[in-house]
Amino acid sequence: MKATGTLSKMKTTPISPVKYELTLSEVRYDITSLVGQSIRLTHSGNILCQNCGKKTKKSYAQGYCYPCTMKLAECDLCILKPETCHYDKGTCREPAWGLENCFKPHVIYLANSSGLKVGITRKTQVPTRWIDQGATEALPILEVKNRFLSGQIEVIFKKLVADKTDWRKMLRGNPEYIDLQAWKTKLLSELGEHLKAHDYVVLDEPVVKFHYPVDTYPDKVSSFNLDKVNDISAKLMGIKGQYLIFETGVLNVRTHTGYEVTLESLA
Ligand SMILES: [Zn+2]
Repeated sequence: MKATGTLSKMKTTPISPVKYELTLSEVRYDITSLVGQSIRLTHSGNILCQNCGKKTKKSYAQGYCYPCTMKLAECDLCILKPETCHYDKGTCREPAWGLENCFKPHVIYLANSSGLKVGITRKTQVPTRWIDQGATEALPILEVKNRFLSGQIEVIFKKLVADKTDWRKMLRGNPEYIDLQAWKTKLLSELGEHLKAHDYVVLDEPVVKFHYPVDTYPDKVSSFNLDKVNDISAKLMGIKGQYLIFETGVLNVRTHTGYEVTLESLA
């Protein structure tokens, strides 16, 4: 195969192993089937803003030009820190977008990607969000009415649990098994006092497990930046989270959203 287009986040299907499709200018290509083969990924130098479509010298906020990051609600700081939602003050950058995306049911979950972590996501983003983080296990624990509430509750959980993934560790192999159900019980009991002021529903869900199409994990993880290296020709060892794991390094596909690339299978 040989295809050219602008990169965006890989589409995933939660089967075992996870099925990945590389999206080039909205056309999807099965990339899971290329694991184990030599491929070539080249970057033309063009980066196109995912909102306005204009060329940008640098990609901001995973795929936008600078002016768009200043006007889009999804690029506002409150998306990263939902507890700072300012919709009620009448200052949401795009109130219609806010209503459609933030004022929808959200879940607080526990996951194991490089160890135990807490996270939040819109309910409709389950299980996509977990796969994007390379989690091997995930458990939704609470449901709330909107993103603001999920942020307030996540802050409480962060007293006891990390909210970040160590991506290098995630890419070096699968983490040790963690009993997420036991952690759920422990955290709800230890944080009960702090949680009781908030409006939430405790979910009773099973743990979801994920297997990724990885032949071999690297011992050392070095990452490619297409601004510096515009030609990667190597064997694709696997795919996990939003990373392509090459024999010579890893590429975070998501952070290269908007980059014009050509993908070619060399086998
Ligand atoms: Zn733009």
